[in-house]
Amino acid sequence: MREYMKFYIDGQWVDPVEKKTLDVINPATEEVCGKIAIGSAADVDKAVKAARKAFPAWSRTSREERLEVLQRILAEYQKRFGDLANAVTEEMGAPASLAQRAQVPAGMGHLATAANILKNFKFEEDRGQTMIVKEPIGVCGFITPWNWPLNQIACKVAPAIATGCTMVLKPSEVAPFSGHIFAEIMHAAGVPAGVFNLVHGDGPGVGVALSSHPDVDMISFTGSTRAGIEVAKNAAPTVKRVHQELGGKSPNIVLDDDVFSKSVARGVQHIMTNSGQSCNAPTRMLVPSKRMDEAISVARETAEQITVGDPNGNATIGPVVSEVQWNKIQSLIQKGVEEGATLVTGGPGRPEGLDKGYYVKPTVFANVTNEMTIAKEEIFGPVLSILGYESLEQAIEVGNDTEYGLAAYVNGADIEKAREVARSLRAGQVSINGGSDMTAPFGGYKMSGNGREWGDYAFHEFLETKAILGYAPKQAAE
Ligand code: NAD
Repeated sequence: MREYMKFYIDGQWVDPVEKKTLDVINPATEEVCGKIAIGSAADVDKAVKAARKAFPAWSRTSREERLEVLQRILAEYQKRFGDLANAVTEEMGAPASLAQRAQVPAGMGHLATAANILKNFKFEEDRGQTMIVKEPIGVCGFITPWNWPLNQIACKVAPAIATGCTMVLKPSEVAPFSGHIFAEIMHAAGVPAGVFNLVHGDGPGVGVALSSHPDVDMISFTGSTRAGIEVAKNAAPTVKRVHQELGGKSPNIVLDDDVFSKSVARGVQHIMTNSGQSCNAPTRMLVPSKRMDEAISVARETAEQITVGDPNGNATIGPVVSEVQWNKIQSLIQKGVEEGATLVTGGPGRPEGLDKGYYVKPTVFANVTNEMTIAKEEIFGPVLSILGYESLEQAIEVGNDTEYGLAAYVNGADIEKAREVARSLRAGQVSINGGSDMTAPFGGYKMSGNGREWGDYAFHEFLETKAILGYAPKQAAE
């Protein structure tokens, strides 16, 4: 049983102002596996004050000083690799292999990338009479979700440290362990007091207090579109910068010239990873209608090889994060059946032999139309919808026919044609034939959010731009 009863404020582990706690449930066992203290507006205020106090000195540190701090964080993170992986598996059910292969390394990747970019990042531009100066925006508030907890924390903290900002983090109350260990890492790395602060809590308590706090200069939020809208509304009266990383319903277009046995299988494996709980999951696969049967056969074979079970065992996927999510996913699977989609494999109910734990059958629907609920709503579970298209124009139109615009995928033998399709898709990141790059900008069009994370683009989110204009007195007189 883990017990995390303190917050990290001003370089110290401190007691919460009020005594309120929350149980954390292990989704594989449905049992309580830990307890955290839940903060209030008063804790947020203390943390923001500490971050404000630390800002003047931290914002004036040299590039080399911040680089050294980032490298120390990275070293401490590596030391705690095993603890972080165990925490992620326990709090949100990712298989141990996925935690070690992807969940924990993703956080490390953002720290290493930020250090690398910082070495040569241009904070100043000399235009002769005019100087353009990039300065840290100030005190940042970070609100993060449970699905890739360390990835989402590190992709905010690393560039914020690199650019000289100070910050207050509120990790997801559903999966708070890895965030807590992350704060221990910051402490062990000797990050100066007040630069990084952590307050545990829920949305209505801590999330709202952080978004609306008058002394927070910027909020970076990852989570549902619903909460993202709330954050923006609460941030509006203080005109702070709002960065939002929200939901998705990403299309995965398989072009007619492609080898289906590869691309359809890749698409199925991708949507099932992390039990479908990724905001950029390729949830809508679009295939030429005349090849629907071929796609169904590859998708069935691939999905049926995916095993579900104990995240500490050898299963490909573990449970979904919570009972709330399990119920939501089940009702959407049911909707798929009721609205007439062809159930290829999986379906409603628990996988055989798994009576405890929030396990979902890897599910594939085919002959889905874009009007069906399963093609419209973000399911956040291991559920794939396969849609048929008659022409490339129709594939693009259907691909774009969503309120979201986070990611999109194109598969095809002809790279030029695939790139042309990629250009037509209204999404922040389009991956061709499985291409991936964690230094490329990541973020959404439309209801998927505002701003970009990862790599050098993330630095700009944390910087203000100042133009310094004018002449030396002698030149001015000439
Ligand atoms: P959520 O939006 O409820 O929670 C995300 C974070 O926001 C948490 O830290 C939460 O405490 C906080 N929060 C909630 N309400 C808030 C408010 N009014 N003001 C400030 N902060 C608030 O998401 P969730 O419960 O973690 O997941 C629910 C849905 O969100 C999922 O089904 C999925 O659709 C979506 N989701 C998307 C992503 C993504 O990366 N785009 C990640 C996780 C979840």
